[in-house]
Amino acid sequence: MDYQKILNEVYEEVKGIKEKGKVADYIPELSLVANDNFAMALRTVDNRLYTIGESKKQFSTQSISKLFTLTMAINIEGKTLWKRVGKEPAGTSFNSLIQLESENGVPRNPFINSGALVVSDIILSEYENGKESILKFIRELCNCENINFDEKVAKSEAETGYRNVALANFIKDFNNLDNEPKDVLDFYFHQCSIAMSCEELTAATLFLANQGYNPITAKRITSESRTKRLNSILLTCGTYDAAGDFAFRVGLPSKSGVGGGIVAIMPHQFVISVWSPGLDYHGNSLLGLKALELFTEKTDISIF
Ligand code: GLN
Repeated sequence: MDYQKILNEVYEEVKGIKEKGKVADYIPELSLVANDNFAMALRTVDNRLYTIGESKKQFSTQSISKLFTLTMAINIEGKTLWKRVGKEPAGTSFNSLIQLESENGVPRNPFINSGALVVSDIILSEYENGKESILKFIRELCNCENINFDEKVAKSEAETGYRNVALANFIKDFNNLDNEPKDVLDFYFHQCSIAMSCEELTAATLFLANQGYNPITAKRITSESRTKRLNSILLTCGTYDAAGDFAFRVGLPSKSGVGGGIVAIMPHQFVISVWSPGLDYHGNSLLGLKALELFTEKTDISIF
């Protein structure tokens, strides 16, 4: 398969699309990012890399970071994690409060904000310095040192993230946070601000396509069974209330973020990432989704 040729074709098609979606502005700092950025990277499990566009340029990973914290939490907690957070699609927007009340403060899944806050709490309880631990984890995964928080983005979200503040307090009231909401939120806003490029993202997530073993650093990150579970949750919950549409159009376990990035896993073969900051109604990258759909249609590769 000539992946480079296909990436080139996808790029040409996507470039011609006028409707590019809307850059997130509810986190003011994110609204400053130009909507004409576009990048893709594909990395095979034998570490061959194919790229197009601004694949080395870092952007705000936002919710994509939740897959790294979930991997850490699964390794810390094992099965007991699922007592504190569910694994069913929510069918509501990623920052919704609705289900939390009737479901007694147990978030539907780890990829909506409420679930990610519980995951953050687990990491804070485990490590003396939670923020250092997530940076260290990602740096080791991609074998790159320049993975950092974007302090401007973290501050911008802390100043405006009233809904996340509400979620954290609500969950605390149901006794599903051990730490203080303000500390959990500080960790959460920082993890969301982590900046990575498409190339770095494909390296850091390659273990998900390789049964939990990172072929770049020759290290096992998590077990085969947990890798299966991580990919399943990515497929059913990784793109929020658009997970059905994503599975239908792309057919790969995927994680998106409101910074406009998406990373998608083809088990045993490769990881593909895309970045285009303009979002659709659900908060997923509009052209990113289109590009992944074109890619899986042209290659006839998907998990189905
Ligand atoms: N930091 C964002 C928020 O909490 C992450 C959401 C996202 O990327 N979907 O709203």
